[in-house]
Amino acid sequence: MNSIPEFFGSMVFNDEAMKKFLSEEVYKALKSTIENGQHLDNSMANEVANGMKEWALSLGCTHFTHWFQPMTGITAEKHDSFIVPADSGKVIMEFSGKELIKGESDASSFPSGGIRATFEARGYTAWDPTSYAFVMGNTLYIPTIFLSYTGEVLDKKTPLLRSMERISAEAVRLLKALGRDDVTHVNASVGAEQEYFLIDKEMYLERRDLMYTGRTLFGARPPKGQEMDDHYFGAIKPRVAAFMEDLDRELWKLGVLAKTEHNEAAPCQHEIAPIFTSCNLASDQNQLTMRVMKNLAPKHGFVCLLHEKPFEGVNGSGKHNNWSLSTNTGENLFRPGKKPFENKQFLLFLSAVIKGVDEFQDLLRISVATAGNDHRLGAHEAPPAIMSIFLGSELEEILEAVANGEEYIGVKRAKMGLGVDALPEFKKDTTDRNRTSPFAFTGNKFEFRSLGSSLNIACPNIIINTIVAEQLSQFADILEKSDNVEKDVEKIIGDVYRNHHRIIFNGNNYAEEWLEEAKSRGLCNYRTMPEAMEHYGDEKNIKLFEKNKVYTASEIHARTEILLESYSKTINIEALTMLDMARKDIFPAVSRFVGEVSNTAVSMKKLEAGINPKAEIELIAKLSDLLIKFSQYCNELEEAVNKAHNHKGDALSLAYIYCNEVLGTMNKLRKVSDEMEQYTDAQYWPYPSYGRLMFTV
Ligand code: ADP
Ligand code: MG
Repeated sequence: MNSIPEFFGSMVFNDEAMKKFLSEEVYKALKSTIENGQHLDNSMANEVANGMKEWALSLGCTHFTHWFQPMTGITAEKHDSFIVPADSGKVIMEFSGKELIKGESDASSFPSGGIRATFEARGYTAWDPTSYAFVMGNTLYIPTIFLSYTGEVLDKKTPLLRSMERISAEAVRLLKALGRDDVTHVNASVGAEQEYFLIDKEMYLERRDLMYTGRTLFGARPPKGQEMDDHYFGAIKPRVAAFMEDLDRELWKLGVLAKTEHNEAAPCQHEIAPIFTSCNLASDQNQLTMRVMKNLAPKHGFVCLLHEKPFEGVNGSGKHNNWSLSTNTGENLFRPGKKPFENKQFLLFLSAVIKGVDEFQDLLRISVATAGNDHRLGAHEAPPAIMSIFLGSELEEILEAVANGEEYIGVKRAKMGLGVDALPEFKKDTTDRNRTSPFAFTGNKFEFRSLGSSLNIACPNIIINTIVAEQLSQFADILEKSDNVEKDVEKIIGDVYRNHHRIIFNGNNYAEEWLEEAKSRGLCNYRTMPEAMEHYGDEKNIKLFEKNKVYTASEIHARTEILLESYSKTINIEALTMLDMARKDIFPAVSRFVGEVSNTAVSMKKLEAGINPKAEIELIAKLSDLLIKFSQYCNELEEAVNKAHNHKGDALSLAYIYCNEVLGTMNKLRKVSDEMEQYTDAQYWPYPSYGRLMFTV
């Protein structure tokens, strides 16, 4: 199998495999479950299981696992073999429908946010037929949801599936109210662009900060950073190209439509983008992509960093979540068409997004809130923590015209004069792109750009689907009762624009003035993770989740706890790693260097000519002063960490201690260290420098 079409999806129980290994009846039933979310009869499960097993055995599998996404943010699995004892000491390879549908796993070690006590350890995994099973190594992977004995969800996939059902149901209802009877199912589609860093494995192993925390906690800026913009879209180095080639191949085998690869803004930073697919599949595939990247990198002598901010002073990594809605009849509901002004259906769906984003800005911000992402948002490399929508001037003018009851006189799309006759002419897009907007309309989809690179994309998509479903439902409520649908559609669009245009911002989101303006518009600006989390359980949010049956109130409280705990733990590990490096490596190294310079100074004085070691003495004084500060900040950091460890309050107040006190002291300590690095002989410095880490790949 050498041609791409031949091996593409060869490790996935996809359409082709299903056709081959299932009877026609079962194939059709499973297919309709996958495409339209129809319930699959349990009686079919045995045959599906058997077909899957036969297919997996043909690929050399010995084991199967239920693959799930607990609240830890990464995936989990427990492998079982297909072996079943048979007569006369032999074994046969078996896999039953029961084993496919339901797994039981000890759930006590996964975070539940107090939903279950540890003694109530029982947890279930349940097959998600809408995401394809696949083979990795010798194991058949079955995507599953994960829930507790009492039915509370403990994972990220279940609420995503719930939100997808909601948005489909409400979109179909709304379309019906518009007189569209042809649509029976609407799919949220997602394409996630993934950024990452590749660094040399040898150097990685020399840095405990990278090993324990995924980011550098110390490191002076090199003389060259990303200021020349010479890496973005630059030629890809051979070693990196070999990695990307390998990555594409592995992903293609797993049915991931990896499509574009390029260098990103920072040195040794890259991006991979797949072709969009249904939200749930896109989410599973993004988890797979991150995992394959991590596993493959060492083969090429690299380590793949997915942390949001591996290096201070250069751009961190994010993820762009491209989102749209498409019908089972193949229509993208966000395609404006040639005459958007006349396309009221499009404007109505657009209005649902505008109203949803404005009313639930806080939830969107919360959906991307992690310790790592706090380093990016608002740091002039990623959108600010303030949510807003970029529509472009044409669409905004159209909405304004509808709101004012006016006709819209469109702008003619200019032809792009390229000045060279031989080049093909193409039409200019009606608006330029805006790379600074957190939530940008990009022609026929929305691009949510605030995600951190390591995030499970289920989190933001649960929110986007739910907040938009809620608006579609409200619109449908009005239109179902309307006796003049056309007029009421225009009224809804106009009302939404009048009441929510504060959320539309086409300008530069990185500019200082935007902070002021956003404040005067009353938009929220939750700069840190704990600040954002305070609002997860706000009354309006609980109401939204309960009404749409995505989360119960107790699930939201549990999730808040889990996320806050994970935030505090992350910073705790960072702080302890810093102390370890500071005291065991950095202080002794600088002190030894000062000792050497002192010896030199003494020897110089002893020379007969009596040479004055002025420069040496200045350096000694400088470094000694810094060392005093350094050890003082080490002590302060230790105190802050101890305070956190002894804290008796709730998860939120603990997170605030980490956010304000521990992180604050970490920053001070780092600053002193980075200054010392600039004055210390490189041979004494205990770690590979930023320059070596970023520029030697
Ligand atoms: P850019 O961000 O540079 O504009 P592209 O236009 O290539 O990039 O698209 C970026 C991502 O958006 C890709 O993963 C692509 O598959 C995805 N995408 C394109 N159209 C849609 C759509 N209708 N719905 C969801 N994702 C989409
Ligand atoms: Mg993009």
